[in-house]
Amino acid sequence: MRIDNSLVAAFEAQLAQASRILIGTHLNPDGDALGSALGLAEFLEQRGKHVEVLCHHSAPRNLKWLPNVDRVQQEPSGEGYDLGIIVDLDSIERLGNVGPYFETLPTLTVIDHHVPHQAPGDVRIIDVTAAATALILTHLVQQMGGTLTASMSTCFYTGIVTDTGSFRFRNTSPDALSTSAILLENGADLETASQRIFQSKQLSSARLLGHALETMKLDMDERLAWSCLSFRDFEWAKATDEDTEGFVNELLSIDTVQVAAILREAKPGKIRVSIRSRAGFDVAAVAREFGGGGHKNAAGCTFETDLTDAEVQIVEGMRRCLASS
Ligand code: 5GP
Ligand code: MN
Repeated sequence: MRIDNSLVAAFEAQLAQASRILIGTHLNPDGDALGSALGLAEFLEQRGKHVEVLCHHSAPRNLKWLPNVDRVQQEPSGEGYDLGIIVDLDSIERLGNVGPYFETLPTLTVIDHHVPHQAPGDVRIIDVTAAATALILTHLVQQMGGTLTASMSTCFYTGIVTDTGSFRFRNTSPDALSTSAILLENGADLETASQRIFQSKQLSSARLLGHALETMKLDMDERLAWSCLSFRDFEWAKATDEDTEGFVNELLSIDTVQVAAILREAKPGKIRVSIRSRAGFDVAAVAREFGGGGHKNAAGCTFETDLTDAEVQIVEGMRRCLASS
């Protein structure tokens, strides 16, 4: 992959005008969100910029080891910022509470790989074929002549390994693999990333997963699977929403299942839904029906209703998706 030279030039021009930069990423940040934001922050510091990284939430437990993760803030430390860069998200809303800090900046860059459904940003470096935002950023740093330090390489590698599900998902392109090789050559810490992201499940999470699998529901010749986790289930397992990371993939790993969802009421009155699908089924379209979004095979949305109501609506959406593809 090569980023269009005119886009790189436009980004360079923005940087030339900027000395104080805010980087933002989405709420409930994952490895690509934080890896991208932190790696980019270090690159911009190489360029002599003052950089702050903002996120609605602080790093989840499985990412607390990321290099420079302590610099993730919930608000800017001062004033007078001249450029905002938002990474790994397609709408200002997904910035949560840090959104307003970006809305008032003179210029905004978006670097992302989601299907855009809103179009903020004066410069938009968007590639929906890229496996991860961190993959786009690695190329950007290389094309701009930056140095990939070991800590930047660890951050970007974390983005790629997260969004490709350890190089198993269909988005695992030759570019994702060859760029990961370059990141390893530059000192990316594969072992810590693998351990902390994929091998450090908490007991509460294992218990809740057991419950989710036991109460799983199936429909349409077992091609559709879903499971609901109520607030009481979370209390019983002493679990948080963070503990449900990856559950939906367990449902999708069943051989007959083509479309799967996990609905979770980690806090009363707010239902988060994660939807996943195989090849031809577009679940981003399902999520968008309910005000969410994402990728063709991995999407999500939020309901502010009760669990049963959310279940009826999302299952209906998934049935339509399965029937129409
Ligand atoms: P997850 O299920 O892991 O929370 O999200 C899967 C994908 O869907 C991610 O790429 C995420 O950005 C996207 N996504 C999840 N929830 C929402 C949402 O409420 N709105 C939008 N636009 N995208 C979402
Ligand atoms: Mn991503």
